[in-house]
Order: sequence, then structure tokens, then C-alpha cells
Amino acid sequence: METKLAKAGDDILEEAAGILKHGGIAAIPTETVYGLAANAYDVEAVRSVFRAKGRPQDNPLILHICSMEMLYDIAVSVSPLALKLAEEFWPGPLTMIFSRKPHVPAETCGGLDTAAVRMPNNRFTLKLIERCGSPLAAPSANTSGLPSPTSAQHVYEDMNGKIPLIVDDGECRYGVESTVICFVNEDTVRILRPGAVTPEMLREFCHVEIDGGVLEKLAPDAKVLSPGMKYKHYSPKAEVYILKGSTESAERFLRGKNTGKTGFLGFGNENVPESVTVFPYGGTSEEQAENLFSSLREADAAGCREVYVRKPDTSGIGLAVYNRLLRSAGFRILDADGGTDALQ
Ligand code: AMP
Ligand code: MG
Repeated sequence: METKLAKAGDDILEEAAGILKHGGIAAIPTETVYGLAANAYDVEAVRSVFRAKGRPQDNPLILHICSMEMLYDIAVSVSPLALKLAEEFWPGPLTMIFSRKPHVPAETCGGLDTAAVRMPNNRFTLKLIERCGSPLAAPSANTSGLPSPTSAQHVYEDMNGKIPLIVDDGECRYGVESTVICFVNEDTVRILRPGAVTPEMLREFCHVEIDGGVLEKLAPDAKVLSPGMKYKHYSPKAEVYILKGSTESAERFLRGKNTGKTGFLGFGNENVPESVTVFPYGGTSEEQAENLFSSLREADAAGCREVYVRKPDTSGIGLAVYNRLLRSAGFRILDADGGTDALQ
């Protein structure tokens, strides 16, 4: 199949809507990462998404909506807290989990009786959903297991030949996927996956619990609230390690790496030996979120065998950065001062 890569615009809107309405799939821009979209109510189309990504069938998709009417079509009920959070954060990078109505296909929701819903903040994609007239199920548009795509070019690398259309709307604003929450009771939410809507932001409106799976490795038989958390994720071909410790100890550690196949993502204040290739990361959590996935892809393109990433600060969107990085690194943390944390 020929894959067309086209800039977001009115003619492409019509083309994308035509594909999606007829059971096809297409990659679309959002403010978090690029999504691989299908009509959420079309079981065959949804199956094509799982196939193109190589995604396990029990890993549910997020339903992307453009109106509250669409939410009421999906959810059995919407609590006052959910309504408040929708008012506050939609359109935006917050996904909320609701009991689903029977007409929402089980396949879309990984066999669960709940559905994850979000209203994305991208003008093209909101118009596209409206034009399609039904929610779009859209997981990240990468091959399952690889770093998520934050540009149309990343999508092309993974999906060329597998899907008919990639809509290019530039680099994603945040660079990490949405915050996923479920409701514990009428005034408490639990974060299943951290994102750009931070615990600090949610705490303005309710109590916030952070699920154990956010920063810890799950036991193989653990019961998980968010099935996506149990899979190996976001990993380039290169081996990724988290590097803990001071700037001086990181510098000392890197001086021992002289094979020419070593990549490094640092805060920008390190003195890095020439034998080590430096990729963009940054000194703030926002920059790190924007750069993490694209730099891991770049490290692969540069032929790095191993990549060391400095341990990020975990406040704000930094919690999302660390959550993704832990999975990219298979939870391997090296202490640049000497020890190794297995974090099993
Ligand atoms: P992705 O679409 O690749 O961003 O992944 C979607 C994430 O949302 C995965 O981690 C899923 O486990 C999670 N998710 C989607 N639907 C549900 C649901 N009904 N219940 C819990 N988690 C969900
Ligand atoms: Mg994904």
C-alpha cells in the first residue's frame, strides 16, 4: 500500500474523513503524540489499527471525541467531578475512564466494560471527528513497543506501506501521551498514566491517588487497571539506561565510554567526551517531555548501541517523563557514583 504524507488542511480533512467513514485507518495529529485513528464504533476498522501497530488485543484504545454529546453516547453516566474536569481540561491531554454503554464495541476497549475518553486539543483532528460523526479510536501511531511518534516523519518510519494516509501538523506540543485517570469515588481520582495534566493540576479539584504501576515494575501476574502499563514500551533498539547522580559523576561515567556507539541525553550542563553522541533532552521537564521519544529514535538512527539518560525531576510533567523513561529502560537505573538499582 502506498502511504501518503500530507499537510493538515481542508482538502486532506475531506480525504481523511472519507477513509475513516469507509472503515479505513489514518494517522492524525494531536497535541500529545500522533494517533492511528479508526471509527471507534467500527469493529473491523479497529481491528486494522491493532494489526498495523502489532498491538496486543487486550490493550484498550482511547476514544477521541469532539463534543460532550459524544461523551454521553459512550458513558453510562458522567459524575459531577468528571464534568468539572472535562470543563477544566478539555480539549486537552486528559483521558477519563467511564463505564461504557453496550453499543461501544468490546474490541475497542480491549474487552473491558469501561471506555477511555478524551477530547484532543488539535484543530484539524477536532474538525475531523466532527466530520466523521463518531468518536475516533486512536492509540499512538507507532509500532507497538517502539517510542511514540511526536512528528509525522516518526509515523512514516513505522507505518509506511501499512496505512493510506498520515496527516502532518508539525511537532506535537507535549511529546508524551495523555494523563489517564479513573474515578475512585465522587471526589477522588487515580492516575493510571501520568501526562501533561499533572497531579498538581488535578489536586486543585479533587483528591489524587497515583497508581503503583506508574513508577514501579509490575509483577507478571499483577492485576492492572490500565492494561497498557504491563507491556514493554517506548523502547528503541539501543539499550536504554537511566543515569542517576550528580553532573560530575555523570561526566566521570561517560569518560569511560569510548566505543563511539554511546548516546547521551543530558540536562545540557554536562561536559561530554567527544566519543559520546549527545541528543536533545533539556534542563526542564517540559523540554524533556518534548524531546525524549524523538531523541530515542534519533539514537537508533545514529546507530547507538546504548543510550544513557539522566534521571529527570519528577514534579509536574516530569512524572510522565520518568514513567515513560523507566519503561524505555526496562527499569534499569545506574548510579553514576557506583551502584546499580534494579528497582525490581
Ligand atoms: P495509547 O493509546 O497507546 O496511548 O494507550 C492507551 C492507554 O490507555 C493504555 O495504557 C491503556 O491501558 C489505557 N486505557 C485505554 N482504555 C482503558 C480502559 N478502559 N481502562 C483502563 N485503561 C485504559
Ligand atoms: Mg502507545
